Amino acid sequence: MLYNSTRNNSLSVTSAEAIKMGLSPDGGLFVPESFPSVSEDELKSLINMSYSQRAALILGKYLTDFTEDEVLYCVNNAYSKDKWASDDITPVKKLNDDAFFLELWHGMTCAFKDVALQILPHLLTTSVKKTNDSRTAVILVATSGDTGKAALEGFKDVKGTKIAVFYPSDGVSDIQKLQMTTQDGSNVTVSGIKGNFDDAQTAVKRIFTNDGMKELLSENNMMFSSANSINWGRLAPQIVYYFSAYCDMVKTGDIAFGDKINFVVPTGNFGDILAGYYAFKMGLPVNRLICASNKNNVLTDFINTGIYNKNREFYTTSSPSMDILISSNLERFLYDISEGDDAKIKGFMESLSRGGKYEIDDKMKSEMRKILYGGFCDDDATKAEIKSVFNENGYTMDTHTAVGKNVYDKYRNETGDNTKTVILSTASPFKFSSTVVSAIKGENAVMGKDGFELLDMLSDISGLKIPKSLNELKNKKVKFGGTVDKTEIDGFVKESLI
Ligand SMILES: *Cc1c(COP(=O)(O)O)cnc(C)c1O
Repeated sequence: MLYNSTRNNSLSVTSAEAIKMGLSPDGGLFVPESFPSVSEDELKSLINMSYSQRAALILGKYLTDFTEDEVLYCVNNAYSKDKWASDDITPVKKLNDDAFFLELWHGMTCAFKDVALQILPHLLTTSVKKTNDSRTAVILVATSGDTGKAALEGFKDVKGTKIAVFYPSDGVSDIQKLQMTTQDGSNVTVSGIKGNFDDAQTAVKRIFTNDGMKELLSENNMMFSSANSINWGRLAPQIVYYFSAYCDMVKTGDIAFGDKINFVVPTGNFGDILAGYYAFKMGLPVNRLICASNKNNVLTDFINTGIYNKNREFYTTSSPSMDILISSNLERFLYDISEGDDAKIKGFMESLSRGGKYEIDDKMKSEMRKILYGGFCDDDATKAEIKSVFNENGYTMDTHTAVGKNVYDKYRNETGDNTKTVILSTASPFKFSSTVVSAIKGENAVMGKDGFELLDMLSDISGLKIPKSLNELKNKKVKFGGTVDKTEIDGFVKESLI
């Protein structure tokens, strides 16, 4: 299996090369040249497998230049049970006869990013080794909150790697910030950045393609790579849990083998939902993929109109990991629905960076709407959703998951579709305790409470145990309290990593 750039079909590289580079030199994203299929028999065989075995089978179809042992090494390191608070890794929980939650947050940073970022460092170091490269991989991460911590945990003390994480200083929760600024590890650095996530992401992307920086790194036997979901090694592992959820539901008898299901995906950078689309392309019986956004509803508008327009107000919301106006992975989706028209994609992306917008043609629009539905909700609706699901079902959702649930209800009302639906639960409610407690108990309940008191309160209310890694933050020292301007990122990287 080879990989093309979304902006240049004549570029074709192995998966090891794609993972090592992160982003294609032309600014495009690496995509598989075709989708490997999972046959009915294979899908059946997945049902009785462990998560690691499922991952090895799915990933093996894409990492064809890896040996079987290399794939197993990566998978077993990432999904060993001691690293996860659930033996199933990504368990499915039933809300009612029609709706289910796929809990993706039982890893050590309590958000779904762990599923991919526990394996990416192994995929990356294996890729570097396989391609006879001795360089140190320097990972730059722009985070809207959860990726940063998950990447730091994944890469800390991994030989042959260094990592720098940038987060928007006013765009993450207290707990998210503490998780990053207290990070251990000899090869890590963290900084706040003035501006929002898009500023951070744009600045990091700029460094990647900056020739001066690239030269400086190569003089030091280093190279850049990426842990953002633009990296194929980050995206591919996310395909696995779509298959896994399906198999678990067949196993419990909630669906019959062959039944189609829907997935609702709380969306920011479009990575998670794209992985669901890839699972669909590989043959997973999927009816619709429902793209749920918060008040930053650029994707809802795009799905409804075919016009992507980022020229709009940016809102800081209670679901910060979805506060994004430029969804990078949409480029991979567009590439696919345009049947791999690299020139067209290049045109869209040029017009996005020039004027902040583009419009796809009617054929692409209709392709898109066959599979995608888009909806959004604001912070008030998010809170109301948390409260009503808690009161009616006794299930405690985080803010991102609540956006998903709200859009699911809208989708059902609008379409009448009662296909069984899996809502991806992307973060632990403890990561957003303040909003979750105030949603359930009212604003007054959280007034004057610090992050740790809120963890205790949420534990009392929900009956859930506080995740160990969050409780331990209490005793940790802040090591990385600084903030830089987006124009200073280059300097910061030079000083702290090279
Ligand atoms: C990252 C994240 C999302 C959005 O996922 P994308 O792949 O960026 O679309 C949603 N919820 C949570 C909790 C996240 O951390």
